[in-house]
Amino acid sequence: MTDLSRRAVMAGMGVAAVASFAPTASAFAPQSGKQAPGFYRYKVGDIEITVVNDGVSRMPIDDGFVRNVPKAQVNAYLESIFMEKDIYAGPYNPIIINTGKQLALVDTGTGEIGFRSSEGINGRLMLNLAAAGVDPAAIDVVILSHYHGDHINGVIKADNTLAFPNAEILVPESEHRFWMDDGEMNRAATPRIEATFKNARRVMTPDVLKRVRPYAWGKDVIPGVMAVATPGHTPGHTSHIVSSGSKSVYVQADVTHAPFLFARNPGWHFMLDVDPVAAEATRRKVYEMLYAERMLVQGFHYPFPAVGHLEKAGDGYRETLVQWSPTI
Ligand SMILES: [Zn+2]
Repeated sequence: MTDLSRRAVMAGMGVAAVASFAPTASAFAPQSGKQAPGFYRYKVGDIEITVVNDGVSRMPIDDGFVRNVPKAQVNAYLESIFMEKDIYAGPYNPIIINTGKQLALVDTGTGEIGFRSSEGINGRLMLNLAAAGVDPAAIDVVILSHYHGDHINGVIKADNTLAFPNAEILVPESEHRFWMDDGEMNRAATPRIEATFKNARRVMTPDVLKRVRPYAWGKDVIPGVMAVATPGHTPGHTSHIVSSGSKSVYVQADVTHAPFLFARNPGWHFMLDVDPVAAEATRRKVYEMLYAERMLVQGFHYPFPAVGHLEKAGDGYRETLVQWSPTI
């Protein structure tokens, strides 16, 4: 029997490597330092969806980040799933829906203003739309899920002009009514909620308001895209079901924020939920349905490409993202 010791093998490999690798030029190349464009396409029946990444937010985790769980427990959980503690890296993923007849954008990311204030960590929708070959002027409708800044700020550019100059802006009617009501603004329970009212007024310029068309729950917003009531995160928070033939995807917006925290722990109350008890009830109902129906879910705050399925894990659900596919 040949004595093939580890040392002999290593020595043999070294000889082989030297023998087969004869460089003819310097291998030096500058490092890129840049990430690849963030867009991903898939089909739902005849409909083509393009997930267009808007970057991430990096928020410090303070006490109160999860209202009903101490910061130390949130940090211990993050470390247990191999994520950085003390920081919440929340992804942003708007989508383009091409029905074959209409081009719709669902939610707009943080916009040019976000790009500048975050130094390019978010507000990347326009860059990634360009990389995906989508002209903002070709978008027929912008569909908004709710009025938090990471969903509506991209409706306008930094100079307050329309980012999607030819688009109608379709808004959940109860969400629009709530955030545009001065009486509700005067009753705002916290400074954060008051700031959301003020931001909604900043984004809803006269030019934007001319293009706003409110839509109702339980009906098609455009053919193939139905609005579903998922209140709690905000009073008029809305999800959408995109269907074509026997295929569908549940576009959940913020039923959970990032699933690695709030799908796995559906009882955790995120600080941005306006009504955390209603948000938890919605979350448990929607996730039980998604699990039972084995339904594809697209999540605005899911890690890119932000689309996958759910399995049960502990008291909650664990997301399994789709595999990268080189074809559509
Ligand atoms: Zn959000």
